[in-house]
Amino acid sequence: MAPATAEEAATVMMLARRERFAVIPAGAATFIDAGNVLSRSNLVLTTRRLTKMIRHEPADLVATAEAGLTFREFQNRLREKGQWLPIDPPDNGTATVGGVVATGLSGPQQMGYGAPRSFVIGLRAILADGRSIKAGGNVVKNVAGYDLCKLFTGSYGTLGLITEVTFKLRPVPSETRTIVSSGPLISLVTVGRTIARESFPVAVELLSASLAKQLGITVSAGESVLMIRFAGSSRAVVTETASALKELREDSNITCVTHDEDDDLWLGLSNAATQAVNDLSWRVIMRPSDLVSFLDDVASLEQDEASHIGLQWQAGLGDGRLRAMARTPVYHGEAVRALERLRRRAENLGGSLVVERAPAEIKNEIDSWGSFGSATDLMKRIKQQLDPENMLSPGRFIA
Ligand SMILES: Cc1cc2nc3c(=O)[nH]c(=O)nc-3n(C[C@H](O)[C@H](O)[C@H](O)COP(=O)(O)OP(=O)(O)OC[C@H]3O[C@@H](n4cnc5c(N)ncnc54)[C@H](O)[C@@H]3O)c2cc1C
Repeated sequence: MAPATAEEAATVMMLARRERFAVIPAGAATFIDAGNVLSRSNLVLTTRRLTKMIRHEPADLVATAEAGLTFREFQNRLREKGQWLPIDPPDNGTATVGGVVATGLSGPQQMGYGAPRSFVIGLRAILADGRSIKAGGNVVKNVAGYDLCKLFTGSYGTLGLITEVTFKLRPVPSETRTIVSSGPLISLVTVGRTIARESFPVAVELLSASLAKQLGITVSAGESVLMIRFAGSSRAVVTETASALKELREDSNITCVTHDEDDDLWLGLSNAATQAVNDLSWRVIMRPSDLVSFLDDVASLEQDEASHIGLQWQAGLGDGRLRAMARTPVYHGEAVRALERLRRRAENLGGSLVVERAPAEIKNEIDSWGSFGSATDLMKRIKQQLDPENMLSPGRFIA
């Protein structure tokens, strides 16, 4: 169901509750299968028709949009005034502002700019009982006594339907430049980690050869690709790029190309995770120093077609984030075993592995999120306070 106003959405929510319908909040439904398989689902309540840009105050670096506005359109509108929201989630142009907030996902440039939750400064949402709530501005802590902006970011439709979001923004950098390097994995990791530590790139992203080829980057057999982006004032970008190039060229196995017009490269990468052909996608987060050894496990999967067909991956060397995408084999058992092994390995290194997208046969065998550890009780308490009858996306996080 796609209400035309937030008030209509609140009425639908109230009626759904009366009928004891399980409601699934949605935006463009590009990633509606995120998380565990739902235990019940009666009504998908989408923000598809809530598409207004409500206000943009360039002087204050603040903008508010209805949740159903596409993220791409939102960014285009901000750019007209030289500003942007510096998050780069997987997106092929259809993801909505509300969906991006509800999943809390960003991408390679999270390293330089920070996580989405730090940009959400206000929101309106409708709770399971149809009550409309407002968070942010002067109302920082309310309803359950928590910071609702942070709580709703990454809530995957389990706490309420977000109808409107206010973000703090950044000016579009006056200059950006990307160095695309190719070479042996170990060489790129070594130099990439040094550059991530010692200078100020906004992204240091390592790509598997097959993902790089999909983006149109030429890469030889046995090589990987490293994309390093600098952004800021012209002077800073020129200096930083020159010093990174010097570092990279000290290794004779590495070749580099520099791109001044680099937006399309990064947009292409954002698009890559959304390829419908890949029905298996998982992500890992861990200390950047530990990611280096974990990469060996991931690279070995490239040859393991029994569990992952056509594996592609990308990894943030500065922030310890990795996403892998593949097609699943007909027999899912090997994929489940590989995911369990990788999760154990990630957890032993102090990290975590989330299964983002997978056929139901796999999601029925392995929990999407792994263990929430000590956060489990808090999550249950918050869910109990905001949705005591478990009517919103039941089973997505915890059965
Ligand atoms: C494996 C993978 C595949 C992806 N595929 C695509 C793709 O094909 N195209 C694309 O553009 N992006 C894609 N994305 C990006 C991702 O979907 C976006 O970051 C965004 O989350 C999707 O926006 P949406 O409007 O489609 O959300 P949806 O897919 O509708 O919902 C995603 C999650 O957010 C919740 N949600 C959505 N809107 C609200 C709301 N207003 N209030 C409360 N909860 C809400 C849903 O319940 C669901 O849990 C993908 C990401 C991943 C990791």
